[in-house]
Amino acid sequence: MTRSIESVAYISRNQGRPFRRRALLLLALATTCVFIVPGPAVAQEIDPEVLLAHVKYLASDELAGREAGEPGADSAAAYIAKQFESYGLEPPGTESYRQPFEITTTISIAPDSRLLLRSGRGSMTLELFKEWVPFNFSGAGSASGEVSHAGYGLRDEDYEELESREGPGIALLRGGVPEDFDPHGSGVDPSPRRKATAARDAGAEAVLITVLQLRVPQAGDPPHSLGIPAVQIIESEEILAWLEDDDLSIVLEAKVEPLRVAVYNVVGQLPGADPAVADELIVVGAHYDHLGMGGPGSLAPDLEEPHNGADDNASGTALLLGIAQYFAAHPEARPARSLVFVAFSAEEMGLLGSEYFISHAPFPLEKVTAMLNFDMVGRVREGKLQVFGTETAEEFAALLDSLDAASPLALSYVGDGYGPSDQTSFYAREIPVLHLFSGTHSEYHRPEDDWQLINAAGMAEVGALAIGLIRELGERPGALTLIKQERPQARGGGGYGPYLGTVPDFGEVEGGGLRLSGVREGSPADQAGLQGGDVVIEFAGNEVLNIYDYTYALRDHAPGDTVVIKVRREGEVVELTAVLGRRQ
Ligand SMILES: [Zn+2]
Repeated sequence: MTRSIESVAYISRNQGRPFRRRALLLLALATTCVFIVPGPAVAQEIDPEVLLAHVKYLASDELAGREAGEPGADSAAAYIAKQFESYGLEPPGTESYRQPFEITTTISIAPDSRLLLRSGRGSMTLELFKEWVPFNFSGAGSASGEVSHAGYGLRDEDYEELESREGPGIALLRGGVPEDFDPHGSGVDPSPRRKATAARDAGAEAVLITVLQLRVPQAGDPPHSLGIPAVQIIESEEILAWLEDDDLSIVLEAKVEPLRVAVYNVVGQLPGADPAVADELIVVGAHYDHLGMGGPGSLAPDLEEPHNGADDNASGTALLLGIAQYFAAHPEARPARSLVFVAFSAEEMGLLGSEYFISHAPFPLEKVTAMLNFDMVGRVREGKLQVFGTETAEEFAALLDSLDAASPLALSYVGDGYGPSDQTSFYAREIPVLHLFSGTHSEYHRPEDDWQLINAAGMAEVGALAIGLIRELGERPGALTLIKQERPQARGGGGYGPYLGTVPDFGEVEGGGLRLSGVREGSPADQAGLQGGDVVIEFAGNEVLNIYDYTYALRDHAPGDTVVIKVRREGEVVELTAVLGRRQ
């Protein structure tokens, strides 16, 4: 489970917690009867022991939390590919089951990077990694000259000295907040990235921020560069004394580079039983990566130990394998349409694997009838299972009702197709999606999410239901009727904050900007003419290099504001005007 849509500011305030709130959204059940495609009794076909064996391996300490780009994730990818091969799945038009792509996991810092302080008291070279280090969002570059003191950088007036300078300046800011400041009451985000962005937008060519503890950039912390050098300085007594000198100047060389690593989606397919529609596809997916040894996505950020991710998402990956094995071993049960099984990587970093897969699909997207996603299906309690995306196609609710009637599980529905997992990348391409989810729990995104807590029998029931669903989707005559969703109405009136209705793509964009995977039907973004594929480069006069710049700029506006948005579209820069709505 990863970050939710269009609320990065929300995420940056509550790192890792958005899903709990969304998970609590429940929807009313629909009641009509439909014809079920008869098939062999399948409940017992999925052996819970086999599923648990997959979970035990994937969630073992040996794989160290399967962080994308780390050896544990590569071992998981090799394991999945080997399983696909042993079941007899076909690789997708290539030799390999693995679809490689690159991600930026963090930055590398050259050891000869340097920071020198100068003032009337003399000069002092700070020790890299001990007294200073670039932030993970730092750009490469050098700067020298007098600094502008900008206090805590939480108020506009803090940047007056910087803005009044001829040409770019160097901003020095205190980290954190002053004693008398209540960040929650003020709604101001005191994070270093927010401050550094404000300093850049105020004309800084480099930013220095003091910190209580250095946070050396580590893997799993996608940088999204600020575009200028941004460094942390430890708040030792001696250094703070220097930093208070009015005549302070610096010489800074931040030699940083994005660290790009190859990661892999793993893909295998089974041809459909009916040549007439075998070119039509049901995509079944699950992400196999997780948080590794902890870090930014963890809800126990101080614990550096394997985040085993047994439920998130070794369980979904195990179910993907179990169902692939079932259909491979039972050609008589195979539906008319073909089945594509995809284990995604880098979901925890912002759906990067599914976004890459959907934009480099080994088949035409219009051939995809539906996408079924398994993310956290290992903790069925009291037979309850949630299904997300039920209002992305008209036929889903009735179909699920009939399967629910035949299953020991009790289903509850959430209509939204945009959720904090990989189905979002497909729904943004107008493909009906369903996400099966057994509910959140207090081990979510913590090291304690271990195999011992997994309900394997419950997983097998989810598997049996999913097989029924896949057969239905794979056999039904004709396409599903896609529903382009407007934003779900919040319960009980009044909202807060500005709303635009874009669906951001968290992947990196060559040359900077924020690519949109799509826009919500009927939203202010839709009305303004924004489209999926557009790259936002400016928002109300603010440069947008990445998702953070975009979110900060949006958040600095109010519902009802008219804003000019510049996008790159097919090599052209297009200017659009939007009237912001109210977020619910
Ligand atoms: Zn997950």
